[in-house]
Amino acid sequence: MNLDYPITYIKGISVQRATLLYTELGIKTCNDLLNFFPFRYIDKTRFYQINELQPNSSEVQVVGKITQVKSVAQKRGSRLVATFQDASGSMELIWFKGQKWIKDSLKMNTPYVVYGKLNYYNGSYSIPHPEMELVTEYKKKLQTKMQPVYPSTEKLANSGISNKFIRTYIQNLLQQVYDGIQESLSVEIIDNFKLMQKRDALLNVHFPKSQENLAKAQYRLKFEELFFIQLHLVRKKLINKTKIKGFVFDTVGNNFNNFYKNHLPFDLTNAQKRVLKEIRKDLGSGAHMNRLLQGDVGSGKTIVALLTMLLAIDNGFQATIMAPTEILASQHFNAIAELTHDMMLTVELLTGSTKTKKRRAIHESLENGTLKILIGTHALLEDKVKFQNLGIAIIDEQHRFGVAQRSKLWMKNTIPPHILVMTATPIPRTLAMSVYGDLDISIIDELPPGRKEVKTVHRFDSNRLSVFKFLKDEIAKGRQVYLVYPLIQESEAMDYKDLMDGYESISREFPSPKYQISIVHGKMKPADKEYEMQRFVKGETQIMVATTVIEVGVNVPNASVMVIESAERFGLSQLHQLRGRVGRGADQSYCILLSSFKLSPEAKTRLKTMTETSDGFKIAEVDLKLRGPGNIMGTQQSGVLNLKIADVVKDSQILVLARNTAIDVLHKDPNLNAKENIFINKALTKMSKTSKIWSNIS
Ligand code: ADP
Ligand code: MG
Repeated sequence: MNLDYPITYIKGISVQRATLLYTELGIKTCNDLLNFFPFRYIDKTRFYQINELQPNSSEVQVVGKITQVKSVAQKRGSRLVATFQDASGSMELIWFKGQKWIKDSLKMNTPYVVYGKLNYYNGSYSIPHPEMELVTEYKKKLQTKMQPVYPSTEKLANSGISNKFIRTYIQNLLQQVYDGIQESLSVEIIDNFKLMQKRDALLNVHFPKSQENLAKAQYRLKFEELFFIQLHLVRKKLINKTKIKGFVFDTVGNNFNNFYKNHLPFDLTNAQKRVLKEIRKDLGSGAHMNRLLQGDVGSGKTIVALLTMLLAIDNGFQATIMAPTEILASQHFNAIAELTHDMMLTVELLTGSTKTKKRRAIHESLENGTLKILIGTHALLEDKVKFQNLGIAIIDEQHRFGVAQRSKLWMKNTIPPHILVMTATPIPRTLAMSVYGDLDISIIDELPPGRKEVKTVHRFDSNRLSVFKFLKDEIAKGRQVYLVYPLIQESEAMDYKDLMDGYESISREFPSPKYQISIVHGKMKPADKEYEMQRFVKGETQIMVATTVIEVGVNVPNASVMVIESAERFGLSQLHQLRGRVGRGADQSYCILLSSFKLSPEAKTRLKTMTETSDGFKIAEVDLKLRGPGNIMGTQQSGVLNLKIADVVKDSQILVLARNTAIDVLHKDPNLNAKENIFINKALTKMSKTSKIWSNIS
C-alpha cells in the first residue's frame, strides 16, 4: 500500500472517522498517521517491589498476593480494601464501585499482577481500581508491554475514537506497510551514528519493546526530522550563494575612507570590526548577501550599518534602512544625518507622516539617483518608492516585519540588493540555526568601552514611596527617568486605564512646575507622540511615562532610571529591551522592577534573571527554556518550530549534529546525485512536495 493513500484504506477507518481525524488532528494520509506520535507510554515493562515505590511514582506494576479483604465504611457508603503483599512490604488495593462482585471474584493468597495509578496518603500506598490478572494467566499471554498514548481531543473522545482505536489503526497500518517502509537516510549516516533503521524506528516509537528501544527509535526520528530541515536550509543557502548573483562592491572609495579617517567619532570595538569584515567579504564576493546581524541593545549596530551603506555608495549604489516605527526611523535618520553632516551625501527620511510635497521630492531624487541614503518605515515598501539602483537594504529589528515584507523590499530590483537584517533580540544559537538556518549570522558580542552595567533591582509595590524618593534624587542630579506600564493587547482598554491612573498619581507625586512629564502611548497620533518624545529628548521633561512604545530604539543618554511597573507582566526579552534604554550615558544607571507580591514561579525566574545578568544571550536562553521556542519573538511565523517529535531546546545536541551532517553531505555531494545519497534525495523531494513546514521556511 502506498503511504500517500488516504487513511480510509486502513482497516477499520470509515469515511466519517477519517473526516474527524482530519479536522481534529490534521491526519489525512497513511503517512500522516504513521507520523502521529504518542506523547507518552504506559510502561508495563517494569515490575516494582513495594518498598521501591515513591510518592511521585505514577503508574506502577506490582506482583503480590492478597492477604485480607475488608469493607470500610466512609462518609457515603463504603469502600472495599484489600491488603496486597509481596516479599518487600504491603500496600492496599481499593474499590469504590462494584464491590460485591469484586469481593467474590478475588482469590486470596494467589499471585496477581496488578497495575494502576499509585496513590500515596498518610505514609501508605494504594492503587484504586487496579487492573489485575492472575500470574498464571499473565504468563500465558503475549504481552504488549509499553502502550502508546496519543494526543486526542474532546471531540474525538466523544465520538468514540479512543486511544485504543488509534492504537489499533496504527497497528493495522504498520502490519500492512512495514515491509514497504523506505529508508530515508544513507547507510553511511546510519552506521556513523548507529541509528535505528527507519521502519524499526517507526515500529518502536508506536509499539516499543523496551525503554531502550524507544529511546533509540525517538533518537532516530528526531535526528531525521532535524536533518531534513537543516538539509533544506543549508541547501537553500548554498543555492542562493552560487545562483543568485549579487552586486560586487569591490571599491573602498572616498565616502568610506573619508568617514573612517575623519568622521568616525570613536574607535570601533573589535566585535564591530570583525562583523564589518564579514560583511565586506560577502559584498565583494559576487554572491548575494543575506546576513543577520545580532547585537544587544547599545552594542553599536548603527555605525556598522552606516559603514556598510557608505561602501554601497562608493560603488555607485543607493542604500536604505527600514525601521519598524517612526520614532526609530527618525532616530536612525538623525544619527546618520549627524554623522555624515560634513560629507557631500544626501540622506532623507520617509515615513507615513512625510508631507506630500516632500514625499514627491524624495520619489524623484530616488529615481534619478541623486538621493543616496533613504531611511524610513513601512512607507518604503509602497509601490511609488522606486530606487534607481538599490545596492543594500538594511532592516532594523527584523522581528517586527514579516518574512513577506522582507521579500517585498527585495522584489523592488531585478537583481536583489544585499540584505542585512539587524536585530537586538538575541536569539540563542540553536534556535537561530533552526529558524534562520539559511541566513549567515554575524554577532556583535561586545559593548563599547566605558559602559557601566545597569544596576537592576526588584521591589514590591509596597516600596513605591522609597522608589519615588530615589527618582526625585536622580532628577535633582539632572537625570531623567522612564516609567513604563505594560501594554498587553488582549486587554488594551484596561492597560490604557492603568497607564492613565499611573500618570495621574505620578503627576500628583511629581507636581508641575517643578517636574515636567511626557506621556507616550499607542493610542496617540504619531505627531503627538513625536512631540512628547522630542520634549523628553531635549530635556524639557524629566519624566517619561509610557507604554512599551519606547521599547524600540530611543536614545536619550541622560536618562538614568528605568522603572517598570507590573514588571511581572512583561516577558524577558521585553524587560531586557526596556532596560537597554538606560545606561547609554556616562552615569550609573538603574532599572527598578516593580511588582505585586503575587508572583508565579515563572515571573519569579524572569525577575531574578534580570537582576542577575545583563547578558542578552543568557537572558534569551532562559526565555527559551521558560516559554519554548514558539513564543520567542520573531519565530511565530516560522513553521520550522511545528516539529513532530524533536524539540529545538531539549534536542539542541541532536540539532547541531544534524546540521553538521547536512553540511557534510552537501559539501561532498551538492546535488545529492551520488548513489549513496539516493534515499536522502528521494525523501527530500517527497517532503518538499508534501510537508507544510517547507512552504513556511521557503
Ligand atoms: P544599537 O546596537 O542598540 O543600535 P547604537 O548603534 O544605537 O546601538 O549605539 C549605541 C550607542 O553607542 C550610540 O550612542 C553610539 O554612538 C555608541 N557607540 C557605538 N559604537 C561605539 C564604539 N565603538 N565606541 C563608543 N561608542 C560607541
Ligand atoms: Mg539600534
